[in-house]
Amino acid sequence: MINNRALFLKNTAQTSDSPRLVEIEKAEGSYLYGPEGQAYLDLVSGFNVSNIGHRHPKVIAAIQAQLEKYLHVTVYGEFIQAPQVQFATQLLAQLPKNFESVYLTNSGAEAVEGSMKIAKRFTGRRQIIAAKKAYHGSTQGALSLIGNPAYQEAYAPLLPEIDFISFNSLTDLSHITDKTAAVVIEAIQGEAGVRVPSKEYMQALRQRCTEVGALLIFDEIQTGFGRTGKMFAFAHFDIVPDILMLAKGIGGGMPLGAFVAAKEVMDVIKDNPMLGHITTFGGHPVSCAAALASLQVILEEQLIEGVAAKAALFRKELQHPKIKEIRGLGLMMCLQLESFDQVYQVSKYCAEQGVMIDWYLHCETALRVAPPLTISEAEIRSACETIRTAIDKFC
Ligand code: PLP
Repeated sequence: MINNRALFLKNTAQTSDSPRLVEIEKAEGSYLYGPEGQAYLDLVSGFNVSNIGHRHPKVIAAIQAQLEKYLHVTVYGEFIQAPQVQFATQLLAQLPKNFESVYLTNSGAEAVEGSMKIAKRFTGRRQIIAAKKAYHGSTQGALSLIGNPAYQEAYAPLLPEIDFISFNSLTDLSHITDKTAAVVIEAIQGEAGVRVPSKEYMQALRQRCTEVGALLIFDEIQTGFGRTGKMFAFAHFDIVPDILMLAKGIGGGMPLGAFVAAKEVMDVIKDNPMLGHITTFGGHPVSCAAALASLQVILEEQLIEGVAAKAALFRKELQHPKIKEIRGLGLMMCLQLESFDQVYQVSKYCAEQGVMIDWYLHCETALRVAPPLTISEAEIRSACETIRTAIDKFC
């Protein structure tokens, strides 16, 4: 019998010394399944990817239909490919009118790279401002925006002319000046342990960017597609960014990302030099067919409408004296414990009991809870019971 665990450790690159080593055979709805049929209720959603659950039948049907037509045919931006065009059109229909043009990428990090590039070209400025404890991806441009010195030092030199402000600090907004091309910011800081900024802060940030002529680039890679109870989280703050970066939940489980902007901003990559941002697999037609189906599922099944009640049920069921705080918005939540050891023991026990939870890159003392938006009330109650038992045992 093939030992995938041994082959995983031997032949695939490892990203830490302690991988979870949970083998997946199948996934469906809110569940992951192991090779012996073990079921895991998924409270992570592949890190905010599986917003509509795993293998939604409409997404599978859309993928199958596209498989009958064509796979990759040419680099993005050359041929007219119906799945790309139709998905971009439906995406724009969900957005305020200033968003006019969609560039489809492979991933979130590529959306970040492209967004930084168009902001520099459009404004003619070089400085980019990001927030401390941000996470925007692992390519060198995106990594330059990671507000965590350990990563920056390890992979230096990164991009020049990047400066950091404290997230949600009104006083730091004065660092944004007429030298600033763009401010890149998460709508809610995910990897920092789900930090929700105030509406006052986001509105002041929007105003400051407008005053000095800097573009406001919103990273909605974790928060997009209904996760927080709105299609996109910027709507919570009653502001509209200039560039929107998307990935993760966009593709219904398929790899895809996008950056969206006004046409005049996007058009800078067309000339002088031409082909300013190109990508071979970005906007893959199978991914776009899945993304279109996924967006339709979110709308037709009114998944966003159910988010607030499900989040409230989680918060009610997770009342426990050892949970110091539950942060978040909608189904992007974080349970603050005391230590990494508690987080590790609780998540290990939960996985053994069939509930998958995780932690955060810049906040190892908190548990990540971000289930598919399709999770049922019964599943929420049962998951919370397991988490409470784990906390009783290990905290
Ligand atoms: N931005 C945020 C907020 C993310 O959470 C991530 C990935 O976790 C990214 C960007 C990078 O996306 P990708 O992993 O698709 O490159």
